[in-house]
Amino acid sequence: MTTLKELLDYGKKALTEGCIENGAHDAWLLMEHVCNIDRSFYYVHPEKTVTDGTAEEYRLLVEKRKRHIPLQQLTGEAWFMGLPFYVNENVLIPRQDTECLVEEVLKRGSKAERILDLCTGSGCILLSILHELRSVRGGSVRGVGADLSAPALEVAEKNRERLGIEAELVQSDLFEMIEGTFDMIVSNPPYIPSGVIDGLMEEVRAHEPAMALDGGEDGYDFYRKIIRRAPAYLRGGGWLCFEIGYDQGKGLEDLLKEEGFQEIQIIQDLAGLDRVAVG
Ligand code: GLN
Repeated sequence: MTTLKELLDYGKKALTEGCIENGAHDAWLLMEHVCNIDRSFYYVHPEKTVTDGTAEEYRLLVEKRKRHIPLQQLTGEAWFMGLPFYVNENVLIPRQDTECLVEEVLKRGSKAERILDLCTGSGCILLSILHELRSVRGGSVRGVGADLSAPALEVAEKNRERLGIEAELVQSDLFEMIEGTFDMIVSNPPYIPSGVIDGLMEEVRAHEPAMALDGGEDGYDFYRKIIRRAPAYLRGGGWLCFEIGYDQGKGLEDLLKEEGFQEIQIIQDLAGLDRVAVG
């Protein structure tokens, strides 16, 4: 028989000795996930025993985490804008940094009737925007999420069902299958220069989908394609909103200017780095 305390001590030791950054923290989260308890339960009942099956499942996940599989892929869950999103290896794990993009969209989108999210992945951006707008002003806002990857769209569909947020999801290479016009076009496209991908941390490089990261030789491939075609899909006064890399502010400003966008703004995140471009 194994107690919760023995299990947690094992996980903490294995992950810190396995040089996993924040290993102790991950050991906790895996235990909460596998044993279906929260920390307060643990502190009251550290000597409670778990079944052999549960202990085995925990050890297995710890081994996987030691091999740098991201924690969110092991628990199948990532929180974004206060909502629990299902994730697997076919989508980019929602990043807290991306909440900055959602916030900028919400600031400008209070009256938006139709919103498009390109490269929707898990659907975290589109679904959280729709959730926020509908909770403030009811169900009138509609949303379309597009992704080239069929397995990514399956994840977005699962999130739509799980969270009960109505949205249209389409398999589309950027605008290819998109019809009609929008008040807002939003995207967190792949934007990492191809040559830099190899230098990313193992969790990202080896376990998140390369197609969600690789933005072509200079990282701007998707921005160029989207900016060129967006005017045909934007309603008058509509906004195009991107997440961008920390050093891409100037590049985005130039691309948006060239295409005739107005009211261009590059917005910094809490760390003071360029994070969002709008026009
Ligand atoms: N839109 C998704 C996200 O922000 C996926 C982005 C991507 O795959 N590049 O998490």
